[in-house]
Amino acid sequence: MRLPRRRPGGLTRWDVWSSPAPVLTIILIVELVAVGTLAASLRHGVGPLPSSWLLTLAVLVGAGIVSTEASLGVERVRRQSDETPHIDLSSVWTFAAAALLPAPLAVAVAVLIYSHIYARVWRRSGVPPHRALFSAATVVLAVEAAAAVMRLSEPTALFRTVGGLLTVLAALLVYAAVNMVLVVGVIVLSGPNRRFTSFLQVLAHGDDAVLEFATLSMGALAACAMASFGAAYALLVLPPLIVLHRTVLVRQLEEAASTDGKTGLLNAAAWHTQAGQALRRIEREGAHATVLVLDLDHFKQVNDQYGHLVGDQVLAAVAEAVRAEVRDGDLVGRFGGEEFVVLLPGLDGEEGHPGAEAVAERIRRRIRGLRVDIAAPVGQEVIDHLSVSIGGAMMPVDGTELTQLLEVADAAMYCAKHAGRNTVRMGLTGFPGPVGGHRPRRSPPRHP
Ligand code: GH3
Ligand code: MG
Ligand code: MG
Repeated sequence: MRLPRRRPGGLTRWDVWSSPAPVLTIILIVELVAVGTLAASLRHGVGPLPSSWLLTLAVLVGAGIVSTEASLGVERVRRQSDETPHIDLSSVWTFAAAALLPAPLAVAVAVLIYSHIYARVWRRSGVPPHRALFSAATVVLAVEAAAAVMRLSEPTALFRTVGGLLTVLAALLVYAAVNMVLVVGVIVLSGPNRRFTSFLQVLAHGDDAVLEFATLSMGALAACAMASFGAAYALLVLPPLIVLHRTVLVRQLEEAASTDGKTGLLNAAAWHTQAGQALRRIEREGAHATVLVLDLDHFKQVNDQYGHLVGDQVLAAVAEAVRAEVRDGDLVGRFGGEEFVVLLPGLDGEEGHPGAEAVAERIRRRIRGLRVDIAAPVGQEVIDHLSVSIGGAMMPVDGTELTQLLEVADAAMYCAKHAGRNTVRMGLTGFPGPVGGHRPRRSPPRHP
């Protein structure tokens, strides 16, 4: 199937110009620094080019092109199904170039490989030119930084001594840090909630950091083999790289199939499956568990007042807030619309619900205090005064099957609604909590 092509339009029509000021500043600085450092290293000159360097350059660019061509289908599907930072397996070749070639030639390898990727993958997948340019600039900076670290070691020692190995490891860390910090930083700054925790969450998403290190390690091995035995040994890296690429796609599709696109939480089907399995395990261990059903109060008003896109932003912020209040092992899912579900394994003693209720109360309070920045025609606005009604059911007191527990928690959630909203009810009996009935409201506009 051929993907529709997107017309990039003129430079002035690129949507990058409408990015928030900090994002635009970082993008322009990164691109200027990439061009500036390249120009500076070219001014020093690389001297006469030995044929071995030219051969290495040709082999690395050729290997990059072959590995992209061999994985065209995989890479296009990855681009389509992935909205998170995209780890490019081409860093195998660009990192090897940083190890084996002077910085300007290593940059030339990166530019040639990424031009080919743009022409064959990104452009056809609708990646806008400014984003491709920024990705290429971050790779250029990463290559230059890694090359600078590698020059700290004698070329003869690089792949032969322990000191050389440590230098390669340091270069690897520097390459990954420059590349990921810049790309992820811009993605987080472009998002609705610009916080350091969001930065860490995106960075940790889907083991991307592990993949980046695996790719760079292969680059180091390729460079080692090429330096020791000859440029042709780069060929041996191609088969494992292509296999790694396919494995990454499978993992990415599995993740996409179980994830809710708007919030990044588990979708209803995945939550149901995983919660069912977790409950069976908890039951075998004779432990306790609690199911919470959350429904945002008067959420329709948010949509009516600000539109569905802002509503989606609020849903994402609420999801982040719920995740922040529970432990890593707790299962949080979006059940549909503005309803969320949480499975809290092993919180309560036999005497009742206090542990789980405390968590539910914490979630309720956090959502109450949530402030969601939204872009308005004039400056920024904040949506706050949101509230949620929460119902809970505990295993084994309220049932042992997931369906029973969901029914009880759902009924308790409706008790909370009838009690005035913005409150928590646990089990079928429920007990009083703060009564709200407040409606989400808009704070006065804030101007940056
Ligand atoms: P209540 O306090 O009784 O729960 O009131 P409510 O307005 O939250 O409840 P209701 O069920 O009447 O409306 C839920 C609204 O959630 C309706 C719909 O506009 C909105 N909604 C459902 N799914 C989405 C979504 O994916 N994105 C956005 N933006 N809104 C959604
Ligand atoms: Mg609802
Ligand atoms: Mg609702």
